[in-house]
Amino acid sequence: MANKKAQPKKQAAAAKPAPAAVTKPAAEKAAPAAKKAEPAAEKTAPATKKAEPAAEKAAPAAKKAESAAEKAKPAAKKAEPAAEKAKPAAKKAKPAAKKAKPAAKKATPAPATEEPKPVVEEPKPVEQEPVQPKEEAPMEQPYTTPRRSIAFIGSECHPFVKTGGLGDVMYALPRELVKQNCDVRVILPRYACIPQKYQDQMVYRGEFYMDLGETGRSYYVGIMEYICDGVVYDFIDNQEFFSAGNPYISLVDDIPKYCYFSKAALAALNFMNWIPDIIHCHDWQAALVPVYLRTLFQDSPVGRAKTVLTIHNLRFQGIYNIPTLRYWTGLPEEVFSMGALKQGYEDANMLKGGLAYADRITTVSGTYAWEIQTPEYGEQLEDHLRYHSYKLRGIVNGIDYGMWNPATDPALAVNYDITNVLDHKWENKLALQQELGLVQDQGKFVIGLISRLTNQKGLDLVNAIVPELMDGNTQVIVLGTGDKQYEDTFRYYENAYRGMFSACIQYDESRAHRIYAGADALLVPSRFEPCGLTQLNAMHYGTLPIVRETGGLKDTVEPYNIFTGDGNGFTFDQYDAGLLLDAINRAKTEYFVNRYHWDEVVQRDMAKDVSWQNSASQYKDLYLELTPW
Ligand code: ADP
Repeated sequence: MANKKAQPKKQAAAAKPAPAAVTKPAAEKAAPAAKKAEPAAEKTAPATKKAEPAAEKAAPAAKKAESAAEKAKPAAKKAEPAAEKAKPAAKKAKPAAKKAKPAAKKATPAPATEEPKPVVEEPKPVEQEPVQPKEEAPMEQPYTTPRRSIAFIGSECHPFVKTGGLGDVMYALPRELVKQNCDVRVILPRYACIPQKYQDQMVYRGEFYMDLGETGRSYYVGIMEYICDGVVYDFIDNQEFFSAGNPYISLVDDIPKYCYFSKAALAALNFMNWIPDIIHCHDWQAALVPVYLRTLFQDSPVGRAKTVLTIHNLRFQGIYNIPTLRYWTGLPEEVFSMGALKQGYEDANMLKGGLAYADRITTVSGTYAWEIQTPEYGEQLEDHLRYHSYKLRGIVNGIDYGMWNPATDPALAVNYDITNVLDHKWENKLALQQELGLVQDQGKFVIGLISRLTNQKGLDLVNAIVPELMDGNTQVIVLGTGDKQYEDTFRYYENAYRGMFSACIQYDESRAHRIYAGADALLVPSRFEPCGLTQLNAMHYGTLPIVRETGGLKDTVEPYNIFTGDGNGFTFDQYDAGLLLDAINRAKTEYFVNRYHWDEVVQRDMAKDVSWQNSASQYKDLYLELTPW
């Protein structure tokens, strides 16, 4: 969910004025002084006997259903966040508007302006959405909360483009919000790598030109629209920025790209004259949106929207030198202060600026919201986050039950649900073993690992213990791509333990589904994990998670208690290979010695509500707090 690569240094590319067609060729270079490229641093028998449904402990399973561009005359009002040190009081409100400054250059003409709605600062208490059954709510069901309009702005969204959990969230949350009386538009870059079948269904919605920073150029902004399941997707089209085969290339390319995208997204809302109550932006790629909104766009129609910025992974922040960011954004000088974008002596941090200017900050679990305020997890923004903690909260992700449902999943060899998982899950295991060339034996304990292969994911711990894991009764399946050192090590193990270890160095959605269904346990030993989706997918498929107690893993996996039989999976706390091995061994013991209890947990995990419904209603509450009319 972020720019997962370190970047080589090179001159940033710019372009010449784009032609008026819907798709534009990239062009000449303008290039600011790309002084430095900062690494994005970092993004037996089958269960022959059926266990009693784990019903008492789990939730009752089976029943649980379950307008013109930025503006013609942008008199940009400067809103400068209060200096952190000067005002330690946590509750001290948002950035104070200091002075008005005639600003930005003209963009495209701005149509219809609407009177801003009055904003009452006091949040009004909002009633909790009642928990609804798992199945989709019937359309005629009356809504319990007022309607709100939300623009999602982010860099990836399944099924168009996805590199990690952000893509899942951008897909599932808008769909769930639509069911909860929200009007949602998702604004995305129109990357060339979006599958042709979606490109073909996009409808031309309009185009305009927009200035960008100090480039002195006018940039083409095309809007291509696609509507699906009540969600409107607006793709910002500009081939100069979005023609690569991958959304993230290197910071030197990505910084101008997402400066352009963030500004174009706001200008597109004005152009379409669709002014949302809330603009919900995601990660560093869209973090400049609140900054633009409270400066260059403050007096344009979209300026009346409230903003929410969600941190999906704090490791990726969009850091570059100040002159380059100034060149590409054209933001007023005060945003490059220590209270907002400035970091260290010479850098500007896009995420840091967004955190300062957003009305609310969320991250994807309560534990991670706390962790990122500490030096260990704060990625050097812990002080900044503590200063803004009054507007920070954690809302855990869910998974989309339409996309992740073992009863209907077309990728599986055999479909199953909570009532027959013990009869059919092993068939998926055998099919998976066959597919991957592993020894076909339903009695083996199969451990899956589905992950980006990066330092974040605790793979050094895994590598350290593989030889001890391979006891003849255990098979390991790794699915992922990433750092070469991990790819090579897993390939080595595949070679060393033929038939028992499978290294699938690839990104393969349907294979991921089959691993969730066919494995007995799924490893997530992350160094840090904002939320984590793989453990949720695994539980929903009756595969027990073995996780480190950090971030969302801690919030979603209750440790199995051998005395009471409670819990959802196996956990360990300190980042230590020995503790990981111990957790795996505890899981194996339950599997081989206490299968009855293991099977109970399988069913309990399948019954656990990991849907988006509850999380989406928390987001809806947040939107209503910000718009209490
Ligand atoms: P992150 O966003 O940090 O990569 P998450 O656990 O939040 O991790 O989300 C990862 C998502 O990407 C899950 O839906 C997982 O199934 C999917 N995924 C990760 N690697 C692969 C892969 N190699 N092939 C298919 N899906 C993958």
